[in-house]
Amino acid sequence: MKRTIRDLKDIKGKKVLLRCDFNVPLDNWGDILNDNRIKEALPTISYLAEKGARLIVCSHLGRPKGYDKFLSLFPVAVYLMKHFPNKVKFSSKVVGTEVDEAVEKLKPGEILVLENLRFQQGESENSPAFVNQLSSLCDIYVDDAFGVAHRKQASNYGIALKKPNAMGFLIEKELKAFDAAFKQPAHPFVAIFGGAKVDDKLNLINNFLNMADTILIGGGMAYTFLQAKGVSVGNSIVSHDLIAEAKEILSNAKQKGVEILLPVDHLVLDGEKLKKVRVPEIEGNAVGLDIGPKTIKLFCSRIKDAKQIIWNGPLGKYEDSRFKTGTIKIAKAVAKSGAFSIVGGGDSVSAIEVAGVADKIDHLSTGGGASLKLMEGKMLPAVEVIDTI
Ligand code: ADP
Ligand code: MG
Repeated sequence: MKRTIRDLKDIKGKKVLLRCDFNVPLDNWGDILNDNRIKEALPTISYLAEKGARLIVCSHLGRPKGYDKFLSLFPVAVYLMKHFPNKVKFSSKVVGTEVDEAVEKLKPGEILVLENLRFQQGESENSPAFVNQLSSLCDIYVDDAFGVAHRKQASNYGIALKKPNAMGFLIEKELKAFDAAFKQPAHPFVAIFGGAKVDDKLNLINNFLNMADTILIGGGMAYTFLQAKGVSVGNSIVSHDLIAEAKEILSNAKQKGVEILLPVDHLVLDGEKLKKVRVPEIEGNAVGLDIGPKTIKLFCSRIKDAKQIIWNGPLGKYEDSRFKTGTIKIAKAVAKSGAFSIVGGGDSVSAIEVAGVADKIDHLSTGGGASLKLMEGKMLPAVEVIDTI
């Protein structure tokens, strides 16, 4: 069993470095546009602060190359200052003597927020020198950054190999949700896939052939499968290199008795014209950008009876209001079903928010890439290096 912060004894007065995922969207004024990831980190921060840890909290934000004033963690520190009055300080440096001094001054229950880890090149490179600098700040390391747990970086993978460590409540919650879904799936188990990153995701469908009863495929993902079945798809996005693999998935599904449903109608853009296509085939140069009403009805009929649903990838180009209907209706159907529901993926989670049903989904994952890894049935490197008890 991996150690969690509940297993840490005697942390009063100890210097605890907590890695969070505060990778939140900011506007140019530094206003936080969606605070979900910070909210999800609060239980761990509160717990450690209440236990009297001298807390050093760190995170990355965006993908800066060196210092970038638009990607400072200061707005996050201000958010935390409001949440924990008189307890929070901000360090404009990530490591170095000024940080060492600020850490030494920390009293039990106080929180020092470090500047964006990725202002230091060593973070993404997992450089030994940067790992040493981070390690020297603390007695104990805690990882609660689920969103980067699929990456081996200095502040999660590197440091965990060096220091006594534990995972926080958010990583624990994420792992528990996926574990429950995969180890003892409730049936009928319906998996829904869509989105555009077919190359990254085709592989994970294989993992579901051993667990799911029905797999609904829409969005950009569907066209590689339709093409594999010999259905014309016009100019819709297709991963030509993956057609053979898609064929194999379809035939494996048949063998295993897993139902795979593909779109039977579409909303397309033909030049500048918006059209409804009432059959699976898309002719000419038209591009499929949303599932059509018959497909929505078909997919909803399976969702209605499901006891467990896992969803990754929007069913259309939902950012464009002309093509959001499929995704929104499916989101509402998932919310209305009595199924245990998990949604993972950056765009998928924002689509759920656009549909206004976030509070009706059992588990909205805070990690895009990390949730995909778990869906593939793989371990997360940053979790593997957490100490066992
Ligand atoms: P997630 O972030 O949830 O893992 P992806 O990044 O794989 O999902 O996919 C989301 C993207 O897929 C969105 O930008 C959406 O516009 C796009 N998309 C969905 N359906 C289509 C389609 N039919 N054609 C082109 N793009 C699509
Ligand atoms: Mg995405």
